[in-house]
Amino acid sequence: MSDTTENDTIDADAPEIGPTFSDLGLSDQVLKAIKEIGYETPSAIQAATIPTLLGGRDVVGLAQTGTGKTAAFALPILSRLDVSAKKPQALVLSPTRELALQVCEAFEQFASGMRGVHVLPVYGGQAYGVQLSALRRGVHVVVGTPGRIMDHLAKGTLDLSELKYLVLDEADEMLKMGFAEDVETILADTPDDKQVALFSATMPPQIRRISKQYLNDAEEITVKAKTTTSVNTTQRYLMVSYPQKVDALTRILEVEAFEGMIIFVRTKSETETLAEKLRARGYTAAAISGDVAQAQRERTVGQLKSGKLDILVATDVAARGLDVDRITHVVNYDLPIDTESYVHRIGRTGRAGRSGAAISFVTPRERRLLGAIEKATRQPLTQMQLPTLEDVNVTRLARFDDQITEALAQEARISAFRDIIGHYVEHHDVPEADVAAALAVVAQGETPLLLDPADERPARRDDRPARDDRSSGSRDDRGGRADRGDRAERGPRTSKPMTAYRIEVGRRQRVEPRQIVGALANEGGLSRDDFGAIQIRPDFSIVELASDISRDMLDRLVDTRISGTLIEIKPDRRSGGAPRRDADRDRKPRY
Ligand code: AMP
Repeated sequence: MSDTTENDTIDADAPEIGPTFSDLGLSDQVLKAIKEIGYETPSAIQAATIPTLLGGRDVVGLAQTGTGKTAAFALPILSRLDVSAKKPQALVLSPTRELALQVCEAFEQFASGMRGVHVLPVYGGQAYGVQLSALRRGVHVVVGTPGRIMDHLAKGTLDLSELKYLVLDEADEMLKMGFAEDVETILADTPDDKQVALFSATMPPQIRRISKQYLNDAEEITVKAKTTTSVNTTQRYLMVSYPQKVDALTRILEVEAFEGMIIFVRTKSETETLAEKLRARGYTAAAISGDVAQAQRERTVGQLKSGKLDILVATDVAARGLDVDRITHVVNYDLPIDTESYVHRIGRTGRAGRSGAAISFVTPRERRLLGAIEKATRQPLTQMQLPTLEDVNVTRLARFDDQITEALAQEARISAFRDIIGHYVEHHDVPEADVAAALAVVAQGETPLLLDPADERPARRDDRPARDDRSSGSRDDRGGRADRGDRAERGPRTSKPMTAYRIEVGRRQRVEPRQIVGALANEGGLSRDDFGAIQIRPDFSIVELASDISRDMLDRLVDTRISGTLIEIKPDRRSGGAPRRDADRDRKPRY
């Protein structure tokens, strides 16, 4: 074993065009899975780590959660996995049960194109029986907390004699949690010729010592961030859970005075999905990603420049070098996987001396990445609150006033109508204000001008952890439970004809109306106006949806899950699934 450690720092000022996934030497099956997931380009840590690991060399990676480090070690392991072998070939040590489960999920996702790959989470608190029978059947990758792995080794139930790859994930956290001795024992008692990858957000002396002692000629990989962001750009962030993002974005679009906007998402497929949802809500939005042909991309950017288009939903690659003065806002719908991408994204606004605004959505899991961004940009991000329905209404009223003022300025057209209105007032004997109000009703159509603040869910204070449905952490659960004072019922919102549907989740699954609205709106592309009353029963719920929603939308809802349960939406037989025409009967009329 050698104690030499080569240091490889990736400079963010280097040319921005990096390698693609297919340049890295990964197996075809793994590449196919990445394509399906929709990752466009490797993150900095992936680009540097994957070829090194595939080349068989040990790695020490300085990287935090959110940089894509899981794929950085999982992809090369899967690319070289021998599926026919029965004994575990790879072991990933994680500090917590939650992280172990996330890593397992990631492995399974990346292995979706491979047959018969078994990944087993092993953590304390779970019954041994499950773990033992899986181990007996044969697993390829074990992901576990050091304590429970040690227990299995002591009992002789985990055979690591054929181990080829050992990953220490969040090594600094493992040491903080008192696992140093276990980690060292595992490093020492596993085959000498295994390859080791150690990832850590920090490099305390103890980790440096461990890597010198147990790793062999490791390449040290650090991602150095670029540190310049425009002083003209204000930077804010909003704490949101994953399912809340669309709703939060909709409110931000309502209250922020923007001219042009770029919304950044992580995957190519998400660009299309989100652009479609925005178009359904009446915004002029288009998607650009590496999949869109260059000529089409240029046309789209041209439309953004000329004002034909206001919103671009983009991936990092597609927005590279984009220079459009009209962009007043950048929204990081998904946080970028590294700080240099953040700097690059934010650089799309505040151009030509104009002021810009950057808003980043941060899920509870990503809190730590936020700190890294602040450190790299040397600017604090201000926390913002989710705009309330009152905020939305204030903006809508102001916009309504502006429209009247603008129309009044069109003197020629106004005078043409003046006589017609005068004639009506005279013959019907109604005040002019009433006629103006009637015309506003005509202009407004079925969509209410103002939202009903009574529909507002209790405001989620942003300093309280929001529940991120993708993580099962108990800390996040508390945030969720605190909200359960929510009304279990929800009144209708619109006067559209409605049809009642039954979904197979209810009070037992602890669902709330807002989760139902969120999930159905997300999956089916429904808008707020498409929802009527929602009743939550012990084992199921009845949801009223606009009768005119398309077959397509309903089809998309079939696979929807809420709190992990398939909702199996179908017309409610009890009410005959009949359209309900009196949705607003008992309610005060809306504007
Ligand atoms: P991690 O740092 O491994 O926890 O990854 C953070 C997030 O980034 C996860 O949601 C990954 O799915 C996502 N991710 C990882 N690599 C990429 C990539 N190359 N492109 C886009 N997203 C990625």
